Amino acid sequence: MFEPLAGQIKDSQKIVFVTGAGISQESGIATFRGKDGHWRKHDPMQLATIDAFYENPKLVWEWYEDRRKSILAAQPNKGHFAIADLAKHKQVIILTQNIDGLHQRAGSKKVLELHGSIIRIKCTVCSYQDDITSSFDSLPPKCKCGNILRPDVVWFGEALPQNVWAEAIRHAQTCDVMIIVGTSLVVSPANQLPLYAKQNGAVLIEVNPEKTIMSSEMDLSVRETSASALPHLVSLF
Ligand code: NAD
Repeated sequence: MFEPLAGQIKDSQKIVFVTGAGISQESGIATFRGKDGHWRKHDPMQLATIDAFYENPKLVWEWYEDRRKSILAAQPNKGHFAIADLAKHKQVIILTQNIDGLHQRAGSKKVLELHGSIIRIKCTVCSYQDDITSSFDSLPPKCKCGNILRPDVVWFGEALPQNVWAEAIRHAQTCDVMIIVGTSLVVSPANQLPLYAKQNGAVLIEVNPEKTIMSSEMDLSVRETSASALPHLVSLF
């Protein structure tokens, strides 16, 4: 399967991974759009918005507390570890849409969190922010300043942190190989990253058991789960 790309893979200097919820699925963390991606009777897509938060902060916080618990109890899987291993002998950058911190816990150092972190909590009004791993007694939690706290994640309708996004584009434009793992590529603007890479001549490889809306742009689509495909794929570099 990899034969036609073997030379470009071996000669590559800089590899960028674009990862999404699917890479953490084998760590037991639900995706948004997969078959296990449902939460009670609510659509996560409707909860991950600033409007939903201000309409019902308690409900949105209950959802985030559920997710925080499962994320903090989860462990990185073979897919996360394979990427961290590759960075021992190649330049590797991870551009992740995930908010779970599992790449960093697997040992990856160069991780750009495009959508923030579920562990980091910030005030909706003042400049307070901190990493919090314990659960909150009452929801929604309040800041010392009296206003509501929120997870430091990027909700639908909100802008990405601009410095992180600018750096992500730079890496996408300068990589030799981009490996896109476990993302449906429907969330904008993260789904533009493969296009930046392709315009600059990078090889695009997708790892996803399902076809995505950008599969036809790929040089290769590996239809396997990330924990099964990535250990072999990284051994080819
Ligand atoms: P998504 O839910 O839209 O798509 C998940 C993709 O992963 C699907 O294409 C699916 O086929 C694929 N997949 C499922 N299991 C897989 C596996 N074992 N190996 C490889 N691929 C697998 O997720 P998305 O594209 O990341 O976009 C959703 C948004 O949800 C993002 O903004 C992200 O911040 C957020 N999110 C994050 C987490 C997390 O941090 N773990 C979890 C859920 C959602």
